Amino acid sequence: MQFSEVILCKYGEIVLKGANRQTFESSLVKELRRRAVPYGQFKISNRQSTIYIEPLSDLADIGGMYEAAKKVFGIVGVCRAVVCEKNIDSIIETAKVYLKDKLVGVKTFKVDAKRSDKKFPLKSPQISEIIGGVILETVRGIKVDVKNPEAKITVEVRDEHAYIRASQEPGAGGLPLRSAGRGLLLLSGGIDSPVAGCMMAKRGLEIEAVHFESFPYTSERAKEKVMTLAQEMCEFCSKIHVHVISLTHIQEQIRDNCKEDYFTVLLRIFMIRLAERCASSYKCGALITGESLGQVASQTLEAIRVTDSVTDIPVFRPCIGLDKNEIVKLARYFGTFDTSILPYEDCCTVFTPRHPKTHPKLEDVMRELSKLDVDSLMDEAYSGMYTETKVIFEGYR
Ligand code: ATP
Ligand code: MG
Repeated sequence: MQFSEVILCKYGEIVLKGANRQTFESSLVKELRRRAVPYGQFKISNRQSTIYIEPLSDLADIGGMYEAAKKVFGIVGVCRAVVCEKNIDSIIETAKVYLKDKLVGVKTFKVDAKRSDKKFPLKSPQISEIIGGVILETVRGIKVDVKNPEAKITVEVRDEHAYIRASQEPGAGGLPLRSAGRGLLLLSGGIDSPVAGCMMAKRGLEIEAVHFESFPYTSERAKEKVMTLAQEMCEFCSKIHVHVISLTHIQEQIRDNCKEDYFTVLLRIFMIRLAERCASSYKCGALITGESLGQVASQTLEAIRVTDSVTDIPVFRPCIGLDKNEIVKLARYFGTFDTSILPYEDCCTVFTPRHPKTHPKLEDVMRELSKLDVDSLMDEAYSGMYTETKVIFEGYR
């Protein structure tokens, strides 16, 4: 018996979007089409709150496409399902053959039937009962457990066909990429900022990044590490332009002219201001950082107040309330952890003061800042900016 298998993607919050719902749905379908390119030809369409991904040839890599769909924001559940004709004989025959392999070694199961076509002659509980009986006959030693089944089999009778599936896995959740505008991530080589970027991409922001280097105090390899992180983030974020700005001269000027314990907070002011300038050139409506309250000297309430006071655009800090182990867990999920822990220096670790101010007062900080020619240092740094672009695969558009 020849099956035709499809991928079904369920979306979550989008269904609540009222008048905008169609825009969200179409950006989700568009993103899936872009991501499908390496896996062959598929028909991707949206019907009855489900996105159908149907292979158009035997060459299509349905397994690869399935894994890719799990990383597309906006989708809450993904499953592979087999399609059959909308009559009970065909559903029974298909279930027998398709589920036999899928249920090898499984001890308990439950069948859930759904009937969105109310004209179908059998009601949902009847379909469940029939298919449950078929499974008990076909799979040796398996039992029904409606409360806590190892496998949940779903039979869905929809407008055109019936679908049988053995399991559903969680999708990436959130809202479709780009549906909320664009944000500029301050991307370091650490664990936190790549996670912060992916978290905001999950809320629908297209991610653009800025990285500050301090060559020759920081090495080429440290920058390459950041580029690798941006590449890895593309598994979820699809495409990231990384703008690189050198802080070398600014850091030397702070070191030579300002009190040592203000070094860190002053440097962060420059970072935020340069990032804001970059955000305005590239039409990003927010900055994103990986800060987590209290994690280091620059992440106290007072230090955050200082950095917030030098910019007019919102600064999103999605890690602010997370513990390190929670951030690590997310870094593993987003696939950036192994690279993040490679031991390269960051510009923040160059000239680090012995005792950084953890509770800086805004007026003291501004007094120290006034010892520098801020505008010309900013212009000089910004004019040297260059950009590298990372994409999930070559040819993604
Ligand atoms: P991370 O793990 O993200 O590096 P961190 O715990 O090391 O964070 P800090 O070094 O204080 O914390 O940096 C706080 C935030 O500032 C980072 O999450 C990142 O958003 C930004 N940042 C730090 N260094 C850089 C850099 N070299 N380039 C761009 N942004 C940076
Ligand atoms: Mg860091």
